[in-house]
Formats: sequence, structure tokens, C-alpha cells
Amino acid sequence: MMNIKNNVLETIGNTPIIRLNKIAKDFPCNVVAKVDYFNPGNSVKDRMALKMVEVAEQEGRLKPGGTIIEGTSGNTGMGLALAACVKGYKCIFVTTDKQSKEKADILKAVGAEVIVCPTNVLPEDPKSYYSVAKRLSQEIPNACYMNQYDNLANRQAHYESTGPEIWEQTDGQITHLVCTAGTGGTITGTAMFLKEKNPNIQVWAIDVYGSLLTHYYQTGKIDMSYVHPYISEGFGEDFVPKNYDMRYIDHFEQVTDKEGAIMARRIAKEEGLFCGYSAGSCFQGLVQLKNRLKKNDLVVCIFHDHGSRYVGKIYNDQWMMERGFLEVKTCKDIINGRIHKKLITVAPQQTVAAVVALMEKYDIEHIPVMADNQMKGAVSEGGLFIKMFSNPEIKAQTIATIIEPSYPVVDIATPIEKLGALINKTNGAVLVTDEKGDYHIITKYDILQSLGR
Ligand code: PMP
Repeated sequence: MMNIKNNVLETIGNTPIIRLNKIAKDFPCNVVAKVDYFNPGNSVKDRMALKMVEVAEQEGRLKPGGTIIEGTSGNTGMGLALAACVKGYKCIFVTTDKQSKEKADILKAVGAEVIVCPTNVLPEDPKSYYSVAKRLSQEIPNACYMNQYDNLANRQAHYESTGPEIWEQTDGQITHLVCTAGTGGTITGTAMFLKEKNPNIQVWAIDVYGSLLTHYYQTGKIDMSYVHPYISEGFGEDFVPKNYDMRYIDHFEQVTDKEGAIMARRIAKEEGLFCGYSAGSCFQGLVQLKNRLKKNDLVVCIFHDHGSRYVGKIYNDQWMMERGFLEVKTCKDIINGRIHKKLITVAPQQTVAAVVALMEKYDIEHIPVMADNQMKGAVSEGGLFIKMFSNPEIKAQTIATIIEPSYPVVDIATPIEKLGALINKTNGAVLVTDEKGDYHIITKYDILQSLGR
């Protein structure tokens, strides 16, 4: 018997549940993750995308040769594009400028057209991606707007696949489901199935600050004052999609952009699970709720997508630092301990022998040559060595004979990362000016030391 799939769509679902070890070691109970980046489109959304296409076909809304239109941040688009490839449809996706460029490029790679709209407009604004997607589906002949937010095939997919898989894989032992919530399809559909099996299972939705879902859940009121732009991707909403049935959700927990991002990086490093942003937020939300758990609980987190879509974002140190998510190490951090120490310098008229003596006395390799508080050049142990070796007589001469170009001068607040481009083979140091205008030196050795700290 051959074991060959007829097409990529047959590989959707049946993703593994993996125990979280190091990252969950402080928990009183077992914590596991349903890692849905194992789907062919690298996210949980493959499940609902295929289901939406199948239902649209059954209902006659999607006909042969038709065009699938959707407002998508990427993952749903990927699932729809895979279905479109296999089934012979065209795809047009409308997304926002907040989403990573990689996501749009990936969608184009699988044959879709991608239209990017501004993020910070209300859903009813004609420029919003909701409005543009709706308009295109009316204008383009034989087009079908999927509308993952209000299309109940979304949660139905999870009722039919994600829920039963979790029930079977945990042998019915699951006590808690933890899941980030966007359209609400994943959490509601999965919870509907699981609570049918065991109504005591607790379902915790993880939301982000800036989304109105948590406040809506708590009060039943839509309050736009809770809505503000946020950086997290894929979950949280500024309206309440029809896929929600709040009766199946027991708690909503909000997390910050920063903590979600940092946690995603930890999951990758500590568990070897290279997940997307929302997986970090999901686990961070659970950490915030840890004291509600007991010894015999079995918590299942859903990790929605893969980290490869975020390499330019949460997995990029520079991006993290620019948003204040990662501590920026600056020149100040390096020279802080010696800010009161005077910089060792030499004057152009001093002899080479005097420089050698200074280098010996202070155990230093790089000395700026200064006159009238102006840098005239520099001397280095390496340069000195070569010149003195070929002509020991230069000892008595002034350093004018061995002077090298001046070091670059940078501000004290310059991030250490920037120094990498300034300190190289020919230039062993930079000078830093502090708030008082005094100079300090940073060498290759200082940087290595500070990075190792
Ligand atoms: N995380 C990511 C990365 C997603 O793409 C989505 C889907 N928008 C979610 C979480 C939330 O899932 P759902 O829309 O089913 O609530």
C-alpha cells in the first residue's frame, strides 16, 4: 500500500501536541502546545481556509474559475491560496501596512495578488481593508468574499478538526484550553467541541491591549476608547466578529506587545519551537494566569503559526530595540564604570619611546593623538610594532612618523550595534563624547567584553 497524498490540502490538520518543558517548569501541572505551524501553510488557518472554500462551493457562491477575495493578515490568505492552487481559483488578498512584508511576499509566491491598506482607520472607512475587500468582491465578476470574521465555516472547521484532535491526543484529559483570539474562530470552534465532551474544561482567550474584545467580554459593551494601535499580529480586534460565541469562553486575558514578543523569543530558544508572535502572547497570557492552575490540570495552548514570518520583526534585535522591547546597550553602558577616568592621550611632539612607555604603564593598545582638545590622529600597538620592527631607530623620533588616521567620534547614546561598522581591521577604536564634551575611548576589546556580559 502506497502512502501518497493526492494534494497538499490532504496534509492539513493532525498537527502534533508537544509538551512545553523548560518554559513551563514553574507551572504546577503539565502544559502542552498544539503546534499548528506543522500545517502546510504554516498556520492553524489552513483548516478554516479550506473549510470556507468547501462551504462556498457547496453553497454555489464559489464557481469554477472564480476569484477568492479576502481581507487577511497573511495566514488565512496562505490557506486560501493553497486551496485555490489545487482547486483552480484566483486569489486577491487585502491586507494592512502593519503586517510583515514577508507575509505579503509569501502570498504572492503562491500566486495571489496582494493589496495593502492603511491600518489606523476604522473598519467602516472606505480605505480600510474590510471595506476594500467588500468593494472588490462586488466589482469583480464571479468573485467570492470569504469574510473570515463573520463566516461561520471558520469556527466550524475547528469544531470538526482542532477540537476532536485535541480531545483524542490528550485522551480526554485536557482541563484548560488557552488560545489567542482574533476572528474568534479557533477558540470558539475548538471550545464548542471540547465543552460538548466535557463542560468543565476551562477556555481562556488571550487578547492584546488595544483590542476591545476583553472589555466587550466583561461588559457586553463596545467601547472604542479601549481601541488603540498595537504591534502584536494576528489577534485582538476593533470589533466583535460573528464567529464568537462568548458563552464558550471562561476568561479573557490581555497581554502587552512587549511581553508577547519576548515570550515568543523564549519559546524558540528554550523549546526549539520557532513560533509566531501570537504563540508568545498565548503563553504569556497563561503565565499571567498560572496561579489558577492545580497539580492534575492539563493545559493545551494553541500555537497558531511559524516564526519564519517574523524574522524581520520579533526575531530581529534591532526591531525589538527600536520598540523598547529589548534593552539597548549604548556606548554609555560601556564607559559608565570609568566616566571619571581621564582619557590617556599623546601630543604630536612626543617621542615614539614615550608612547611605548605609556602603553606599557597603562596596558593599552590604542592612544589618540590630541592637540588643543582636537584629535590629530592615533597610534596603535599593532602599527607601532610593524614600524619599529623594520626600523628600531624611530624610537627617538616624534610620533608624526607613526601616526595613523583619527578614530571616528560618536555620541555617548550610540547603540553598540552601530560600532560594528566603525571598528575594523584598520581602525581599532572609536572616541565617544559625553554630555560634558569629554572624550572616552572604546576599543574592540571593550565591545567584546560588553557583549559577553
Ligand atoms: N494568531 C495568528 C498568527 C493568526 O493568524 C490568527 C488569525 N487571525 C490568530 C492568532 C487568531 O485566530 P482566530 O482568528 O481564529 O481567532
